[in-house]
Amino acid sequence: MKDKKIIIAIDGHSSTGKSTVAKQLAKALKYIYVDTGAMYRAVALYAMRQGFINESEFNQEELEKNLSSINIKFEINAKTGLAEVLLNGENVENEIRTLRVSKHVSKIAAVSSVRKKLVEQQQRMGQDKGIVMDGRDIGTVVFPNAELKLFMTATAKDRAERRFLELTEKGENVSYEDVLMNVVNRDHIDSTRKDSPLRKAGDAIKIDNSNLTLEQQFDQIFLLAETTIKNS
Ligand code: C5P
Repeated sequence: MKDKKIIIAIDGHSSTGKSTVAKQLAKALKYIYVDTGAMYRAVALYAMRQGFINESEFNQEELEKNLSSINIKFEINAKTGLAEVLLNGENVENEIRTLRVSKHVSKIAAVSSVRKKLVEQQQRMGQDKGIVMDGRDIGTVVFPNAELKLFMTATAKDRAERRFLELTEKGENVSYEDVLMNVVNRDHIDSTRKDSPLRKAGDAIKIDNSNLTLEQQFDQIFLLAETTIKNS
């Protein structure tokens, strides 16, 4: 009998390598991968471009009025085979990963109407299962019935080091202190917001990868996925 398709929800703190493992897992299982952080980042970029948010101000009302003009989609990059995010038809995959966007995204993600719009879209993407989705509220809000839920964490120092390397390798001129501060700030806003705060679902399996290599982490998670698929 053909294996049943399941939903795999991966949540956790900023820069814990959720997307790396989610991509590996989706590839190995031939599942769809959805990076929900990219969707919030694209909304943040839209708000920044429209001047709704900057270092000192956030005009939430204007953003909410314009929500229906924001269209977020994914397209597959033919070269890499990976999904990239489109904001109103424009590929913004690189721009959304900058520290500039990271600095604003958590404020945008705390707005309930933004969450409602994106969560509905995410739920539609997962209606046929066979999906690995990563974010902050996937196991708690988007797919509370997901068959496999993981909650990833690591020390803030480890996470900031990884993110710093990633950004500098891409040529971004950032300081380690700024990256660390951003990781800590985002976790704080994400965990204390009223709507869908970041927390581990009761039935999620916690993975602290501070001392795991990427390979060890993947092996551990792949085994969990295989077992869950067999038993579901
Ligand atoms: O995963 P990533 O770090 O790219 O997410 C960027 C931000 O988007 C998070 O810090 C959080 O504020 C927001 N987010 C969220 N809910 C999700 C995914 C991301 O609030 N499901």
